[in-house]
Amino acid sequence: MKKQFAIIGLGRFGGSVTKELVEQGADVLAIDSDRTKADEFRDIATQVVIANATDEQVLRELDIPLYEHVVVAIGNDIEASILATLLLSEMGVKHICVKAETDHHEKVLKKIGAHRVLHPEREMGARLAHHLLSANIVDYIELSSQDTIIEAVATPSLIGQTIQDLNIRALYGCTIIAIRRQGRLMAAPQANEVIQAEDVLVLLGPKKAIYAFEKDFI
Ligand code: ADP
Repeated sequence: MKKQFAIIGLGRFGGSVTKELVEQGADVLAIDSDRTKADEFRDIATQVVIANATDEQVLRELDIPLYEHVVVAIGNDIEASILATLLLSEMGVKHICVKAETDHHEKVLKKIGAHRVLHPEREMGARLAHHLLSANIVDYIELSSQDTIIEAVATPSLIGQTIQDLNIRALYGCTIIAIRRQGRLMAAPQANEVIQAEDVLVLLGPKKAIYAFEKDFI
């Protein structure tokens, strides 16, 4: 069975989540209180509804409790975002993902039952900073406030060495979880794997450990 998604708020963030999900073949119920916004998505989402997501009755009429994933992408109206999240949480929605504007907003959202809180601008900012700092960093993903994953092109100081030689886990506290080589992803590489030119290393670890490794090698 297809996964069911409901997206509340069709601004830049909610709109792009909706488009991407539909492109990947998912069914998406898109909700916005603004008619013009909703109309923009008539030909994109599976179903589009003009509704106020802070109205419990409306959410029940739309069968929202039956949706596996609900995304609250109401930007500026923090009160509405909190109220909608609270209703979803009370209805027992399994996965509630909410876009937060500030740290206080995030704190409240977590307290009232949001399973995942996102700061898209902040996360994109951190990603861009890493790209700017080193051309060898091809991607940067924040897993939590502590842990990150980076993808970095092997530099000359890494090429020809085995994972064991580098002893990264003991020295830095991060781990090479995969190597991308000639388009193929080698997950959990062996300790005796020799790093080759043009390899892309996928590293996982605490932010500090990753920074220290980047500084020495990337
Ligand atoms: P972004 O920063 O992602 O562009 P915006 O704040 O511009 O986010 O967009 C949020 C969207 O959420 C707007 O289209 C707005 O009409 C919609 N919205 C705001 N409050 C509600 C609500 N109570 N119910 C449903 N949609 C809402």
